Amino acid sequence: MIKEWSLNPYSNNYMSGYQGADMSEKKNKKKPITPRRVVLTPKLEQHLKEQIEFLTRSIRDYDLGCLSEYKRMATIIRVVAYDGGRSTSLISHLGMEQEPFVSYAAPLNPRNLLTEQSLIILKVSQDSCEHLPVLDQGPPMMQRWLPKNEWLNEPVFRDSNRNEFSRLDFIKWVANQDGGAHVDGSVEENYARLQEGETVGWIFEGPNGPVPITDIARSHIRHFAFEFLTSLNTAWQRYIGNRECECGSSRKARYCCLKGQ
Ligand SMILES: [Zn+2]
Repeated sequence: MIKEWSLNPYSNNYMSGYQGADMSEKKNKKKPITPRRVVLTPKLEQHLKEQIEFLTRSIRDYDLGCLSEYKRMATIIRVVAYDGGRSTSLISHLGMEQEPFVSYAAPLNPRNLLTEQSLIILKVSQDSCEHLPVLDQGPPMMQRWLPKNEWLNEPVFRDSNRNEFSRLDFIKWVANQDGGAHVDGSVEENYARLQEGETVGWIFEGPNGPVPITDIARSHIRHFAFEFLTSLNTAWQRYIGNRECECGSSRKARYCCLKGQ
């Protein structure tokens, strides 16, 4: 009988199989290559539909008060859109990397001496103060459709040390370091300062003294999620419109059964 541990390369017992071997032998022993299977387009499409559903639910829950959902939102955006290192985004797998993303951000003005932001607004009441995502509720502003990487890398916030941060900075901090997909033992100093309210540029004096403003990352990511979902829904409609129609007519769906939708 074959023991289970000898089949599972990731179990601790498997490693114990090396006990007794000398170090050089251990070094030369390569991990067995795990066979891989290519994921076909229908399954990738299913993944994208699921990610859109995940994001829709996270947004709903956040708006109902589960504010930590911003961590999941950051992770979904990373999974769907981030190409870099060893990661290929889901939309690149689907050949949708040319699809544009909507930005509601006003370009940062280098002559402005204060901290700067255009995707979140500060709401102050007598005893509290919080940032809210602008979404589509703000004053009419320029909507621009940007290529994916420009959207990710566009600076959207400048802190009190005059560091500028992009959507991707926030998304990577939250997804990779702060509990989205991973928890790091240390986080980037610039991010820690923002999260502790040290470089926000404002101090709120509450009835019991100063209260740090610690919601810069989450309010931004809630707004990114709004832009992202809007863009993704548009891209998905275009994508399925360009597919061969499911009725078997061999015409593109947007000229066939999806015509007029
Ligand atoms: Zn049709």
